[in-house]
Amino acid sequence: MYDVIVIGGGPGGAVSAQRCARQGFKTLLVERKRLPRDKVCSGMVMGPWANEIIQQEFGKIPKAVLASPYYLSGHQIHLPGVQPQIIQCKTPLAWRKDLDFWMIQNARKAGVEIRDEAKVIGVNHKTDPCSVTVIQLKKTQEVKSRFVIGADGAASAVRKSIFPKLKVRYSAPIRECYKGNLDLDNNYFHWFFPKYRARPRFGLNHKDDYFLIEGSGIKELKHEIIHILTKYGFNAKSKALWKDGCLIPQLHEALISKRFFPAIGNVMLIGDAAGLLLPITFEGIGTALKSGRLAVDAIVEAAKYGKEAAGIYLQKLQSILAALERFHLLNAELTQMKTSGAFELSKAITAAYQDTLKVT
Ligand SMILES: Cc1cc2nc3c(=O)[nH]c(=O)nc-3n(C[C@H](O)[C@H](O)[C@H](O)COP(=O)(O)OP(=O)(O)OC[C@H]3O[C@@H](n4cnc5c(N)ncnc54)[C@H](O)[C@@H]3O)c2cc1C
Repeated sequence: MYDVIVIGGGPGGAVSAQRCARQGFKTLLVERKRLPRDKVCSGMVMGPWANEIIQQEFGKIPKAVLASPYYLSGHQIHLPGVQPQIIQCKTPLAWRKDLDFWMIQNARKAGVEIRDEAKVIGVNHKTDPCSVTVIQLKKTQEVKSRFVIGADGAASAVRKSIFPKLKVRYSAPIRECYKGNLDLDNNYFHWFFPKYRARPRFGLNHKDDYFLIEGSGIKELKHEIIHILTKYGFNAKSKALWKDGCLIPQLHEALISKRFFPAIGNVMLIGDAAGLLLPITFEGIGTALKSGRLAVDAIVEAAKYGKEAAGIYLQKLQSILAALERFHLLNAELTQMKTSGAFELSKAITAAYQDTLKVT
C-alpha cells in the first residue's frame, strides 16, 4: 500500500515521484523498461519551464550528464534560398538516457522506491484506494495506492485504462543516427522546411561524435533531405548507425475543447500521457516537469482537505492549457499561411519558435 504510485520514469515521473517523497508520501515509481532507458528525443532542455524546474528540483545538470557541445547556442531556421534565421537561446543538450537517469537517481535518493522492468497494464480509479495492475518477472500483482500519477508517455496505458473510449491519433517521428559531422554549425539545432511550409519539417543536430536527423516528415522528405544535406557534406550512400522512432499523441484539440480532462478521481495524467507537448516545437520535457509538479501540488491539497485530486489538478493545469491553446492556434495559422515569399514565411516561423521557447 502506497500513498502515491507514479507510472513512468521519464522527466514527468522523476520530478513528481521525487516531490512526493519529499512531501513525506510513501512513493513507488514503476518503469516498464530496464533503467537507464533511452527515449527518442533531441534531448534539448528548452525554455524556462524545463530549465527552471530542473534547477529548482534537481540542481544544476552535471557536465557528465550532458552531451557535447553541452550547451547549444540556439536554433537555426532553414528555408531553401533564404539566409538561415537564427534564434539565440542557450540550451543544455543531453542524451535522454543520461538526463532521465540522473533525475531518477535523485528521486531514489529522496526516498522513492523504484521498480524497473515492471509494466503497468491497468489502473482502477473507481476503488479507494486505487488499484494498479503491474506485471514483473511474468507475475501479475495488484498494488494499492491512494493517488496515481500516469507519467507513462505517449501511448499511456494509464490513459487507455481510465479513458477507454478516448480516440487518439498519433504522429510517428523517426530518428536516424550517423557517425561524424556535417558542415553545419554544431552549436545550433537546425530546423529545415524544404517545402516552403511549416510542415513537413525535419531537424538536424550534432551530439558527441554523431549527427541525428529527426522528424515526422523524414519518410515524406527523403529526397529533399538528401538534396539539402549533400550541400553540407552528407553522403547519400552512408548508412545510419541506427534508426528508431516513437509516437506523439495528437490531443491538443481534445484538451482545448475540454473533450478530454487528463484526470479522474485520484488518478492524474501528466506530460506526454496527457498530450501536453507544446505545439510548434513539440517540446515536452518542460510541460512534463511542470504538470508533474502541479499533480503533486494537487495531491498535497487533496490529502490535506480530504478531497479528490482530479478537480484540483485540472484547475492548476489551466496555465499549461492556456499556453497550449495559444500555440495551437498559432501553429494552425502557420500551417495555413500563404505568404508572399519564403523570407516572410521564414520570419513568421522564427517568430513562432522564439515565442514558444519563451513560454513561462
Ligand atoms: C523526435 C523527438 C524529439 C524531441 N525533442 C525534444 C526536445 O529536444 N526537448 C523537449 O523538451 N522535448 C522533446 N521531445 C518531446 C519529449 O521527448 C517528451 O515530451 C518527453 O519525453 C515527455 O516526458 P514524459 O515524462 O511525459 O514521458 P516519457 O519521457 O516518454 O517517459 C514515459 C516513461 O513511461 C514508461 N512507460 C510507458 N508505458 C509504461 C507502462 N505501461 N508501465 C510502466 N512504465 C511505462 C516509458 O518506458 C518511459 O520511460 C521530442 C520528441 C520527439 C518525438
